[in-house]
Amino acid sequence: AVPLVVARSTAIAASNGLLIRDRTAFEEARNTEAIIFDKTGTLTKGEFGITDTLVFDEAFGARDIVSYAAAVEMQSEHPIAKGIVNDAEDIWTVDHFRAIPGKGAEGKVKDRDVKVVSPGFVRSRGISIDDPRFEELSAQGKTVVFVLIDDELAGAIALADIIRPESRQAIADLQAMGIRCIMLTGDNQQVANWVGEEIGLDEVIAEVLPQQKADTVKEIQSRGLIVAMTGDGVNDAPALAQANVGIAVGAGTDVAIETADIILVRSDPGDVAAILGLARATYGKMI
Ligand code: ADP
Ligand code: MG
Repeated sequence: AVPLVVARSTAIAASNGLLIRDRTAFEEARNTEAIIFDKTGTLTKGEFGITDTLVFDEAFGARDIVSYAAAVEMQSEHPIAKGIVNDAEDIWTVDHFRAIPGKGAEGKVKDRDVKVVSPGFVRSRGISIDDPRFEELSAQGKTVVFVLIDDELAGAIALADIIRPESRQAIADLQAMGIRCIMLTGDNQQVANWVGEEIGLDEVIAEVLPQQKADTVKEIQSRGLIVAMTGDGVNDAPALAQANVGIAVGAGTDVAIETADIILVRSDPGDVAAILGLARATYGKMI
């Protein structure tokens, strides 16, 4: 039998869009010592818009750079892809589309091989990015993706996302509960640092590939901490499973939802603080 207080908490939670799938994990949630947030879509809105376009190869104009990139991104589900497609003026088609998880996407556009990729991918190809504008844009918290055309650096597109207005308060509330707040992202270190400072995070872990996210959770557990993890994507499922408490946020993907112990229907980081607070109120904090 489920104790009355637990049943009542579960019902209150559900009516507020906080769904408890695994009651043991909910009980464990009261002991959370560190919480790991996914950046894009959780702490930020995940709605990107283009702010700047850089041209490195004068054979192309800024509009071409965006058009080539948008043709590839039309086939991608990534929030960066949606931002590029929304702001593009031309609609070109792509063949042989391929996602490069955690790094970008590629395809053939107008008989050229086009890649839209992270700074890490560009460096891994031995191409140096010695443009000061890249550093400046990143320091402003903008995500910069590079456009390679036939494997030559042709241009770059900077995009801005919006920090959710609830993020700062949610982090402060969790910290007041003695919980260490960590952000984990595939985005570059400077962008991550910028977001971290804006919302007062304790720690920022950047440039992590999707398949490394579960290892990052393990590393934090190996510090002796009980870890809750939030995520929304297909790629987040192994990390949600590895965490002591896995929390799927927002509309999310089916995979994330099936793996999570707790599902937050809304994408409000304040709900993360609410559910951990409710676990403590329900079971008391075990010291
Ligand atoms: P996040 O932590 O933001 O969910 P991801 O692992 O999804 O990060 O992506 C990491 C990085 O890989 C992005 O910041 C971007 O540089 C690059 N990337 C991934 N997918 C795409 C895409 N479709 N187009 C352009 N860049 C992408
Ligand atoms: Mg993601």
